[in-house]
This record gives sequence, structure tokens and C-alpha cells, in this order.
Amino acid sequence: MLPSAAPGTLYIVSAPSGAGKTSLVKALLDSNEQIRVSVSHTTRAMRPGEVDGVNYHFINHDTFRDMRAQDAFLEHAEVFGNFYGTSRHWVEQTLNEGFDLILEIDWQGAQQVRQLMPHAQSIFILPPSQEALRQRLNNRGQDSEEIIETRMREAVSEMSHFHEYDYVVINDQFRHALEDLKAIFRARQLHQPAQRRRHAGLLESLLG
Ligand code: 5GP
Repeated sequence: MLPSAAPGTLYIVSAPSGAGKTSLVKALLDSNEQIRVSVSHTTRAMRPGEVDGVNYHFINHDTFRDMRAQDAFLEHAEVFGNFYGTSRHWVEQTLNEGFDLILEIDWQGAQQVRQLMPHAQSIFILPPSQEALRQRLNNRGQDSEEIIETRMREAVSEMSHFHEYDYVVINDQFRHALEDLKAIFRARQLHQPAQRRRHAGLLESLLG
């Protein structure tokens, strides 16, 4: 069943393309061994430098359809013409093992996960300006001008959902944004039910 009572906390992190989400999440993972990130399944083509099983599980449409029919996805969505989905089994297992887990998904997936798991904590990462976003999309050097313009429009559409999220982090200075992100996770780790589980022995001796 869905692990609403599982020891780990589920985090949703969304951002428009180019806001620096992946780099921030990677730095967060490097700083905290208790956190895992979900590797999504996608039908989109692999980009240069991407590795199957690391960035995504790259699958074809038939496999995606089969997995969806078997209810293998906790959430799934079509984003910019490609299909994406999160493995239900992997999420349940990781949370039950006590890890905090990050889903890097779009606003549509976030809405589905909130319905299923109301305790999930959601974070939206914003760029400091439209110019900075455009610059970052250019700097990637992986997409044509036309694709960048399309992605700018898609970014504005994605950002329009920021108010559905519990937290907002502005990625102007990477270091500051990372500190903000860490603060959210730290505060959550100090949440009373989590502390109660972690320090059951201490609480018993203090109140005994
Ligand atoms: P990209 O193809 O550029 O890596 O990601 C495009 C968009 O798809 C991003 O907004 C990303 O967060 C979203 N995305 C990636 N994986 C998933 C997933 O498993 N589910 C959903 N709903 N969105 C995803």
C-alpha cells in the first residue's frame, strides 16, 4: 500500500527547464546520505551525456503503455510531447527503508502525488529572472534557438503553478539556493513525528 506511514519523507521538486533543479538536487544528495532521488521512466530521446538508468530509464512507447496498464507508475504525465512516469514500487520501497526521497517531476505529476500522499512536501525552484533563464537554456548548448524559444514558453507555463507548492526557492546564487534547500530538509527532519521515531529510547527515558 502507499506508504503514508513510512519512515521516510517524500519530497516533490519542480522547476522550469534551466532553473538549475538537477544540479541543486545533486548537490543536496552529495551532502546528505539519507536522501535518495527517483530515476523516472521516459519515452524522450537521450541527450548527449545522459546515461540510461542514471538520468532516466529510457524506454519506448510500448513499454511505457505496458507499465501504465500494469499500474506500475505512482504518477505519470505527458510533458512537452514526451511521456514520463515514476516507479510506484521503487518509491514505496525507498520510503519504507527510511530514506527521504525526492521526485523531480512536473506540476501535473505533483498534483497526482499530493492526492495520493498528502504528507508529501513540495518545493518549486524559480530562476532569478527570465533573462537568466534564457541564458541558462542557451548555455546548455544542447538545443536549437527554436527549441529554446519553445522551452521559454513552456517554462512560463510550468512556473505559473508555483503557488501549488509548500516551498519556493529562488536559484540566483547556487550556494544560497542550496542552503535554502538544505534548510527545508533539515526542518523536516526535526519535525516532531520524525524526531519521536528517531529518539524513541531517549523520550522513553526522559518521560519514564
Ligand atoms: P527533461 O526531459 O528536460 O529532463 O524534463 C522535462 C520535464 O519533465 C521536467 O519538468 C521534469 O521535471 C519532468 N519530469 C521528469 N521526470 C518526470 C516524471 O517521472 N513525472 C513527471 N510528471 N514529470 C517528470
